[in-house]
Amino acid sequence: MSRFLCRSGEAISPYTPGEQPRERKFIKLNTNECPYPPSPRVAEAILAGFDAASPVPPEIASLRLYSDPEEKVLINAIAGFYGVEEEQVIAGNGSDEILAFAFRAFCDADAPLQFADLTYGFYPALCSLFGIPYVTVPLEEDFTLDIEKYKNCGRNVIIANPNAPTGIALPLSAIEEIAVSNPEHVVMVDEAYVDFGGESAVHLLDRCENLLVIQTFSKSRSLAGCRIGFAIGNRDLIADMQRIRCSFNPYNVNRLSILAGAAAMKDREYMEQCTARIRRTREKTSEGLKNLGFTVLDSRANFLFAKCPVMSGKEYFLKLREAGILVRRWDMERICDYVRISIGSEEDMEIFLKTTKELVAQKEGAENE
Ligand SMILES: *Cc1c(COP(=O)(O)O)cnc(C)c1O
Repeated sequence: MSRFLCRSGEAISPYTPGEQPRERKFIKLNTNECPYPPSPRVAEAILAGFDAASPVPPEIASLRLYSDPEEKVLINAIAGFYGVEEEQVIAGNGSDEILAFAFRAFCDADAPLQFADLTYGFYPALCSLFGIPYVTVPLEEDFTLDIEKYKNCGRNVIIANPNAPTGIALPLSAIEEIAVSNPEHVVMVDEAYVDFGGESAVHLLDRCENLLVIQTFSKSRSLAGCRIGFAIGNRDLIADMQRIRCSFNPYNVNRLSILAGAAAMKDREYMEQCTARIRRTREKTSEGLKNLGFTVLDSRANFLFAKCPVMSGKEYFLKLREAGILVRRWDMERICDYVRISIGSEEDMEIFLKTTKELVAQKEGAENE
């Protein structure tokens, strides 16, 4: 820290992202990216009009211009996908930025926030950035969320559904009950993983004016590197978030990401194929781990949260790393023996299972000596 960091800057506790290795080639199962490339329409959109005659692809030449501050083609594609009005959609530089707009718009010292003790680590980080008081509610012993603790809670709420890092999903009826019971507060649903087997609360928006649905292109649409997220809600909530966006960065989504996002959103079939493939691989991997004696939570996301029967979470994590496989783990007491395993390609997951089987056998061998 420099001696110039202001007092409130000292109090901020930043989020620690998962490792992005630059050198050694790892099988990367640590940050829930999609193992498959984005829709072919994404490259087509960015390279449109490019041929031997034009020295620079037109969309690349256009990078000299600022992006559309209304992000029209992207907003239009999102609204089209979900059958909502364009005024009900706002886009951001990743859903992390969307979360920031929402927290800044709806929460402050007089409007605290409630979320689970085990959920996305960016929520408390944002609260510390904005000075938002928050209450964490412990998940149940089996990592499910008891909706009674959210009904009528008198606070704004954010729920990741499916949750991270557990992968466990709530039915829409639960989200609806929470939203209906808190009519004076905003209920935010972070649906980063919804396309892998959850149900989107977008379908509740007609009934719940206090509901805000947040999604990302980073997971199911293979565009983590483009940084695109969005929220859908009633037009007044979205207008409130536009106030924040336009006070912070009116050009928050860059030109290439606007194009890429619109193209990816229009290719519903490709997204559905990729997510179906990942779901199949998830179920196969889960079976494989259970056969080795692991505890595996019921995941509706593109990752598994699992506990090794013979090693601590830390030992298993480190041995996988030595073997060239990166997964994610946390030191928090309740989950320190679990690891979160992103679902990679079929081949990646075969190697992962084979390696795990060997590590478990080695450990058991050592113990029986
Ligand atoms: C990955 C993730 C996000 C962030 O996605 P970006 O759009 O890449 O910023 C948001 N919420 C949850 C729960 C996530 O896991």
